Amino acid sequence: MTEDASAKKDLAAVKGTKDILPKEVESWRALERLARETFELYGYRELRAPVFETTELFEKGTGATSDIVTKEMYTFTDKGGRSLTLRPEYTPSVVRAIIEHRLDLEVEPMRYYYMGPMFRYDKPQKGRYRQFHQVDIEVFGEKDAAVDAEIIEMADSLLRKLGVSGTETLVNSVGCRECRPAYSQALREAAGKRKSDLCPDCQRKAETNPLRIFDCKVESCQAAARSFPVIQDFLCGECLSHFNTLLVFLNQYRIPYRVEPRLVRGLDYYTKTTFEIVSSHLGAQNALLGGGRYDDMMKDFGGPDVCGIGFAMGMERVLAVAELAVPKRKSLYLAYLGDEAKKSGLELARYFRANGVECLVEFKDRGMKAHFGRANKLQAAWVLVVGEDEMKKSRFGLKEMATGRQVEGTREELLALLRDKVRGIEAPC
Ligand code: AMP
Repeated sequence: MTEDASAKKDLAAVKGTKDILPKEVESWRALERLARETFELYGYRELRAPVFETTELFEKGTGATSDIVTKEMYTFTDKGGRSLTLRPEYTPSVVRAIIEHRLDLEVEPMRYYYMGPMFRYDKPQKGRYRQFHQVDIEVFGEKDAAVDAEIIEMADSLLRKLGVSGTETLVNSVGCRECRPAYSQALREAAGKRKSDLCPDCQRKAETNPLRIFDCKVESCQAAARSFPVIQDFLCGECLSHFNTLLVFLNQYRIPYRVEPRLVRGLDYYTKTTFEIVSSHLGAQNALLGGGRYDDMMKDFGGPDVCGIGFAMGMERVLAVAELAVPKRKSLYLAYLGDEAKKSGLELARYFRANGVECLVEFKDRGMKAHFGRANKLQAAWVLVVGEDEMKKSRFGLKEMATGRQVEGTREELLALLRDKVRGIEAPC
């Protein structure tokens, strides 16, 4: 390898991270816009928390025995000797923010959404990155299982707007602190009997937190897990009634679902409802979004006893299956000839931009033919011609590239023409 090539390799994007290039950004923005619009229809408001937090926050929130905390966190010590972690998920940050700002005392409903990057030191593969992006929503203070169904309905509605088809909704209950210990004990016993089928990691999990065996991707562990008792047989009266109410409301919303008793979703904090929406168009990494209820987290953090529920949607995964109609940009290319025309042209570009027309200007000496060639390549919708004649008359030529139609007019006349054709142009103030 030449020195140059090796320097380029050293400076390449880090494994598991990706650039989102301008040609992809339009779909990202469409997803972000539709997510915002949808969530706000349900009364959610955006809450932006920092990208890094204290390591203890995730240890306490996400859970000390979860794969995320034991294997996947980007943790570093800062110059002040403090252990910090790039957030691997968003829920603990929101809970912290609520406690810190006493948002529970405000009148607004505690419904929040957020979009941004998350970081996990996971094995990179298709659909699995080390920096990936999530759309996240959380609701606090709503105990009723109707809200569990409502957030699933909201997720479903967003996926439909994004043109995502071929999805399946999986639901489960992981019980609560009352009923889960008996289930964990039953799992521990069942895992003990299948010890030789379990990987070393799961043999350890059988002792520490047997529920986490369900997260394991090793085939022999999954086969063993299929023979384990199901949680529905262990739910206490309250958890069972909550689960049944969730199903009633899902039926009411006419959302098809499948009860998946092994859906425990990798995080220690879930209580009662867990759910996932998976896509039949993706390979092994088929979960588009997942979430659940976490009624104890706020009080475990030393805050008020306020229950919570939420979900996180993987943006890369959704975009891989979304069918989005991205509007084509409509821009005006400025074709000027000579130094004087350049000056007037720039004034004109300023005028059109101030009035909401996207204007492409390149500072290269070009003849008229070269200008048109370039405008064509850039797929400009119109070309504005500024030469000596045009300047003298203060009337300029405008060519519509798709039709070849040419018109002449003052800048005000041309703007009036364009205003009809460019979506979103506001009247000048
Ligand atoms: P989780 O926070 O693990 O419940 O994940 C919620 C959603 O985020 C998943 O359903 C995926 O769509 C997405 N996701 C999680 N981890 C990754 C990753 N490493 N790379 C890409 N997307 C991910």
